[in-house]
Amino acid sequence: MATGGGYRNGSHKAPNLRNSSSFKSKLPPSNVRRSSPATLGGGAPSGRVRVAVRLRPQNAEELEADADFADCIELQPELKRLKLRKNNWDSDTYEFDEVFTEFASQKRVYEVVAKPVVESVLDGYNGTVMAYGQTGTGKTYTLGRLGDEDTSARGIMVRSMEDLLAKISPETDSISLSYLQIYMETIQDLLNPVNDNISIVEDQKTGDVSLPGATVMEIRDQQSFIELLRVGEDHRFAANTKLNTESSRSHALLMVHVKRSISDGDNDFSPENRSLLIANLRPPMLRKGKLIVVDLAGSERIHKSGSEGHMLEEAKSINLSLSALGKCINALAENSSHVPVRDSKLTRLLKDSFGGTSRTSLIVTIGPSPRHRGETASTILFGQRAMKVENMLKIKE
Ligand code: ADP
Ligand code: MG
Repeated sequence: MATGGGYRNGSHKAPNLRNSSSFKSKLPPSNVRRSSPATLGGGAPSGRVRVAVRLRPQNAEELEADADFADCIELQPELKRLKLRKNNWDSDTYEFDEVFTEFASQKRVYEVVAKPVVESVLDGYNGTVMAYGQTGTGKTYTLGRLGDEDTSARGIMVRSMEDLLAKISPETDSISLSYLQIYMETIQDLLNPVNDNISIVEDQKTGDVSLPGATVMEIRDQQSFIELLRVGEDHRFAANTKLNTESSRSHALLMVHVKRSISDGDNDFSPENRSLLIANLRPPMLRKGKLIVVDLAGSERIHKSGSEGHMLEEAKSINLSLSALGKCINALAENSSHVPVRDSKLTRLLKDSFGGTSRTSLIVTIGPSPRHRGETASTILFGQRAMKVENMLKIKE
């Protein structure tokens, strides 16, 4: 994986956008969202999907190609605001739960976006972290970087596992995972590429989604986890080479199951409780949490349906999962009576991320280039709509 060595350390503010008084805010004052300062949520899962935006640093190619253009993005991280320039005079202002400039560290992004989700999973809830954005804006960097050459560059997957491993008791608890890719509405097993026998099953009573047939590997230490991610990445690359496509066209999903055996009164160190525990009068409870980390296909695919033949089929089915996700988010944001989760494999798999007691964080990634202003604007709008999704809603199909 390439390092961030080719990026300039410049300011993220366009000089001609500095005078904030010249901007029109999209949000009426009553609509201004106050978000928690430290992390995207905390405690028991409730409320809406938390959304952060992250700007990728300018790369060497952009440094040259965009030299004559004015920047189109201004970030105000202290206000959690992003301004996107419309023209020389006007810009739109958007608020997020968190705004990460190009200087934000991987550690901070993890702590704000993913750590509260990981904590909920340890408490037995479902948690989802998703990255959405145009190809090349840093989704895989944010989620999937292994960081073996530089541990400070490690992404959300590796940091989540590190926290999970640190918190569980190896004697009584277990962590296992599956690693999958969805390409053209087919689920591929990234841990066993010859396996084509994966189905999506939903428990009628609990609504829990599971994937019988997918390879499940138990994780005992960080090293074996990193090895598995590497195996998955190799298989993803091989599968995509065989199909003559790129990873930007598929969705990658890491599903981590955490089972913990919690004794009632685990934190009660009184002599009476100890003797009850020793006498086995308080049987341990099983807590099952599921963490899904989703590296979505490049969002630009949603617009590319003008192709022919295989390309058209591909564009349509990539559109299918991504646009189904967009439709579900819209329906949930509008509290609609029908949420079309059945329309695609991706939304079926994510069904329990958007309903019941689940905590979901979305990070939308954008690049600095004014040449991609249109894609950047549509990514920002996707993130804005997701901010309205209330997770406690029971999904009605
Ligand atoms: P995507 O998965 O969205 O297509 P990548 O994660 O592959 O994008 O990022 C594209 C390129 O930009 C890669 O070379 C990656 O290392 C680099 N990059 C992305 N985000 C950052 C960042 N925050 N800091 C430094 N380099 C980054
Ligand atoms: Mg990627």
